[in-house]
Formats: sequence, C-alpha cells, structure tokens
Amino acid sequence: MMNITETKQLLERRHKALSERISDMEGALRQEHSANFSEQAIEREDEEVLERLEKEALDEIRAIEAALQRMDADTYGVCTGCGDDIDEKRLKILPYASRCIRCAQ
Ligand SMILES: [Zn+2]
Repeated sequence: MMNITETKQLLERRHKALSERISDMEGALRQEHSANFSEQAIEREDEEVLERLEKEALDEIRAIEAALQRMDADTYGVCTGCGDDIDEKRLKILPYASRCIRCAQ
C-alpha cells in the first residue's frame, strides 16, 4: 500500500512549484517588446517556447488538481477507465495518473 499522505504532499508541492513557474512565465510574456526588429523576432520565438511550456504546466496542474480531488473522494489509485487499481509503480512515476497503463494506451 502506498503512502497517500506523502503522495499528497508531493503533489501539493509540485502544484505550488508549477503555479509559481506559470506566474513567472506570464510576467515574462507580458513584457514589452523591444523596438529593435531583430530582437523582436527573437523575443517572439522565446514567447512561443514559453507559451508551450506554460500550456504543459497548466495541463500538469489540472491533472494534479484532479488527483487531489480523487484523494479527497477516496478514489485515488483507481483507474477512471476500467475501475481497476492503478499499478503502484505507475503511480510512483506519475502520481497524478488517472488511468491504468492499459487504459492510457
Ligand atoms: Zn484501466
């Protein structure tokens, strides 16, 4: 049996770190563009990378929030696809996994 309290703390820490990272990225994205045209091109490329990273972070945050809700509802570790228990090894690697390896494929 895995330690839910520990996993919950881990998820909450990760959630906090991601939220901070997102607000940093949003701050960077809101910065004024430089007046120099070639610098602007670089800035736009950076922004595309930032936006992609931000989207990934947001997806992870949503997955973490869903996992925390499942913990509160006592359904954490149960596959939302087939209802079987999710393998503990999978949950160790991906603590916010909502589906077992078979359903996720
Ligand atoms: Zn399943």
